[in-house]
Amino acid sequence: MTDKANPMSKNQPFTFICSDCGRTANDMTCIRRYGSRAKQASFRISTMHQAVCDICGETKDVTELRDFFYPSERAMLYLKNYLTQGKS
Ligand SMILES: [Zn+2]
Repeated sequence: MTDKANPMSKNQPFTFICSDCGRTANDMTCIRRYGSRAKQASFRISTMHQAVCDICGETKDVTELRDFFYPSERAMLYLKNYLTQGKS
C-alpha cells in the first residue's frame, strides 16, 4: 500500500546532505514550484555531524533533509548528477 501524500513513506536515497547541497536543492525546489529562490535558506542547522553527503559524496558536516524543507527528490537527483559528473 502506497501513500502518495507522504513523501517520506517511500524509501528514498537521500538521508543526510551538507548545507551547500541542501541550500542549492532548496533553491532549485522553490524555483520550480514558485518561480523564485528560497526565501529562507535553511530551517535550522540543528544536528550537524561529519558524514558522507548523499548528494555530492564528500565527507562534510551534514544534516537532515528537514533542515532544508525536504527538497524535491528530482532536484536532489539533478544536483547529484551534476556534482558527480565524471567521477566514479
Ligand atoms: Zn553535499
